Amino acid sequence: MTADQAKVEALAYALKQFVDVCDEAEALVGEKPLTPSEVDFQALARTMLPQTIDPQSIQGTGLKQLQHLVENCSKCKLSGTRSHTVFGEGVIPARLMVIGEGPGAEEDATGRAFVGKAGKYLDSWLGAISMSRETNVYIANIVKCRPPENRNPESDEISACIPYLKRQIQLVKPQIILLVGSVASQALLETTDGVGKLRGRFFRYEGIPVVATYHPAGVLRNPELKRPVWEDLKKVAAYLATPLNGRS
Ligand code: SF4
Repeated sequence: MTADQAKVEALAYALKQFVDVCDEAEALVGEKPLTPSEVDFQALARTMLPQTIDPQSIQGTGLKQLQHLVENCSKCKLSGTRSHTVFGEGVIPARLMVIGEGPGAEEDATGRAFVGKAGKYLDSWLGAISMSRETNVYIANIVKCRPPENRNPESDEISACIPYLKRQIQLVKPQIILLVGSVASQALLETTDGVGKLRGRFFRYEGIPVVATYHPAGVLRNPELKRPVWEDLKKVAAYLATPLNGRS
């Protein structure tokens, strides 16, 4: 007899005993007694057994387990060229979660998110609204491995990797999400619109407010984008400053 069969039998026996007791109690107070012979206790017990957990399943994982799955992942071709996976980092629960498209060369070399030139620039954006990855922000990417030559991640790579991010969002529990760049915005919001069209308004992902803006690397290349980014950051800050929206 397997362990599960033994549990089913034990549960079924306990259920039958319980119904017998109810039966006797109801008989004492004059209600129509239950008829145990009409109940399939084995079937009932099977529905009560806890679900078997698949060690490869993302659902139900904690952050450490999720990171372990990512570190050992080979679900897409980016696993063949990476030096390190880049899981993400910051504070949990986060007031703000920043999501970019994928690791660059320095991130791939260090295993840390947004540590190159664009990352330092992102840190300065966060500082401008009194936030940081050390105090209240969590930072992650759509794909956890670097696309070669910093190309955009391809659709099959995004599809393979985005379940990790979605579980990460559940665990990080941000009050608001800031998507930086078109790749991240299109992947999470499931749209083909670019940031130019998406920015300036609020979206929702699983009930969490979402703002899209330009990627810091793009702004470094094109300083004219600084002003719209600042408008978007002010939107995020204003949302978090509203007492009904923010945890302190
Ligand atoms: S990019 Fe994501 S899906 Fe692809 S190998 Fe890396 S962790 Fe796995």
